[in-house]
Amino acid sequence: MSGNVRRGFQARRLRGDPRRVARHAVAASILAVASVRTQAPPAADTILVNGHVITVDARFSIAHAIAIAGGRFTAVGDDAAIRKLAGPKTTTIDLRGQTVIPGLADGHLHDAGGGPGVDLSRTRSLADVLAAVGARVKASRPGDIVVTNSDWHEAQLNEHRLPYRRDLDTVSRDNPVVVVRGGHEYILNSAALAKWGITKATPQPSGGRITRDAGGELNGELIDRAKALVQLPPAPPLTIEALVEQHRKLNAAGLTSIRYPGASVEQYRLLQQMEQRGLLTIRVNQLLRFGADNAEAMRAAIAASGLKPDEGDEWLRIGGMKLGVDGGFEGGWMRQPYAEPWGEGGAFSGVNTMKQSAYTDVVKALNRLGWRVATHAVGDAAVDEVLAGYEAANAERSIRGKRWTIEHGFIVDQDQFPRMKALDLVISAQDHLYLAGPSLVNYWGAARAGRTTPMRAYLDRGFVVAGGTDSPVVPYPPMWVMYHFVSRDTISGGVLGPDQKVSRKEALQVETINNAFLTFEERIKGSIEAGKLADLVVLPEDFLTCPEKDLEQMRVAMTMVGGKIVFTAAPAAVRKPLRAQ
Ligand SMILES: [Zn+2]
Repeated sequence: MSGNVRRGFQARRLRGDPRRVARHAVAASILAVASVRTQAPPAADTILVNGHVITVDARFSIAHAIAIAGGRFTAVGDDAAIRKLAGPKTTTIDLRGQTVIPGLADGHLHDAGGGPGVDLSRTRSLADVLAAVGARVKASRPGDIVVTNSDWHEAQLNEHRLPYRRDLDTVSRDNPVVVVRGGHEYILNSAALAKWGITKATPQPSGGRITRDAGGELNGELIDRAKALVQLPPAPPLTIEALVEQHRKLNAAGLTSIRYPGASVEQYRLLQQMEQRGLLTIRVNQLLRFGADNAEAMRAAIAASGLKPDEGDEWLRIGGMKLGVDGGFEGGWMRQPYAEPWGEGGAFSGVNTMKQSAYTDVVKALNRLGWRVATHAVGDAAVDEVLAGYEAANAERSIRGKRWTIEHGFIVDQDQFPRMKALDLVISAQDHLYLAGPSLVNYWGAARAGRTTPMRAYLDRGFVVAGGTDSPVVPYPPMWVMYHFVSRDTISGGVLGPDQKVSRKEALQVETINNAFLTFEERIKGSIEAGKLADLVVLPEDFLTCPEKDLEQMRVAMTMVGGKIVFTAAPAAVRKPLRAQ
C-alpha cells in the first residue's frame, strides 16, 4: 500500500482525534458478532473468556470476551457470543475475571537498559554506587577503563546527587572511571580527566559543558557535546540475540509496540532479518538518526542508506528522522536561567546542541524529501527553535496532518501552544519526572519542575500525546508511566505538579491508541476491536478501579502479540484443543 496516500487520507479524516477512527471499528465489531449468528464464520484460533476487557475503543466500552483468528481480533463481546465462535481446534483461555487492556506501547525507547558496564540500576545510595564501581575496579587490570551502564539516575539515591570526581577518586585512584548517566552526561574521576587531558584550561565545547564545583574546580561532569572529549571502549556490536533478549524483557512488562527514537541503519537491517526469521515479538517503528549537521550531509546520508520514508509493514516500519536541539535533565535549553548556578553565577540556561540556521536548513531539506521530523526538545528555548524550524518548513510545504513531533517537550510556555497547534504537532511525552523529580527541582526550581511534561495542558488543548519512557534514561515499565501520569508522584520526591494529573482512562489512551496514532497505525492497533491486530495485556487487577498505588508495581500476567502469547507470568489457564495425534 502506498503509505503516504493512505496516511494523508487518514490524517484529514482524523483531524487529530484518534477516537474517531475507533468509532468505525466498534461498529465493525458489533457487526462481526452479529453476523456470526447467521453465517457461522471460520472458527477462532483462540478465545479469551470470563474477563474484564477494557477495549479503549471510541466509547471506552467494556467487554468480557475476545475471539482471535489469523493474528487479529475477530470479535469482542460477551462470553456467550464469543464461545459460539470456538471450534474443535480453538484454544480457550479462561481469564478468571482478570483485566485485559490493549497491548502497551512506548513511543520513545532506545533500549531496555543493562549492558556490560557496572550496573547501577538498583543502587539506592552513593555508598551503593561507589561499592559497585569499586568492586569493578578491583577486578580490573591497571589502566583498564571502568565504565557504568547508563540506566540509573541520582534521584534514586538517598542523597539525591551525582557521585562526583572526588567521590569516585576514593574507590579508584589509578583506573580511569567513567560513570555514564542517561544519554547526556558522563562523570569522570581524576584518572579519567588526566587520561583524556581535560583540565581547567580546556575550552567549553560548543553544545556541551565541562562542569565545575562551587570552588571552581572540575567536578568531573561532562554534558552533551563535552562527552566527545572522552573515547569510551567500543560497545559490543548489537546482535539479533541481544535484541531478542531485550524484546522479551519488554514483552514481560506488557509492551507490544515500541518506537526507537533515532537508531542506525545497521540496527534497522538487524530488525529486518529478525522479521524475516520470525523472531520479532514486538512491533517496531524506528526513527533514523544520522547526526548530519547540514542539509547536504543529511541528503547524502539518506541517499547512502537507501531507505524510504515510512517503508515497512505492521511489524517493522521506518517512522521518520530524529533531530535534537538541546540537552536533557541537566542541559535542557531554557528561556530563563537555571536555579542551580553550575558555577556560572546564575547565567546557565542550558545547552543548545544544534544552532537555529543549521537546524532549519536540515528540517526544510527533510520536508522537501518527504521525511517526517521528530525533534528532541526539553526546554522552552529549544521548543522555540523547533517551532521556528517547523514553521519555515511548513511555509514551503504544509506539515499539517503529517504528525511531526516534539520529543519530550518538558517545559512549554503558554504562547507556544497555539503555534504547536497550528502545525498539528503530536507530542511524544515520557515519565522522566517520575525518576528525576528531585533533581529537576534543584536544577530549575520547584515551580518550573512542577510543570515538567504538562500532560493535562497538552490534553486539554487537544493534542494527541503518545507516552513512553526514554528507556534506558528512565526504566521501561509502562505501568510506571501510567502511575506517574495519573498521580504525578515521583520515585523519591512526592507529588510534583498535581494540576497536571490525567485520568486513568486518558493514561491508558496515551499508552495505547495515541501511540498507534503517532505512527499512523490507529486503524490497525491500539484498541481491542474486531479487525485490529491481536495485541493485548492481561493484568491481575482492574486498571480502572484498583488502589492508585497498585498501578505502580502491578505485574503483567500475560502479553499477546498478533494472537501469540509472548509472555506469561504463571501457567495460564489455557485449555488446549484436543488433537488427534
Ligand atoms: Zn531519548
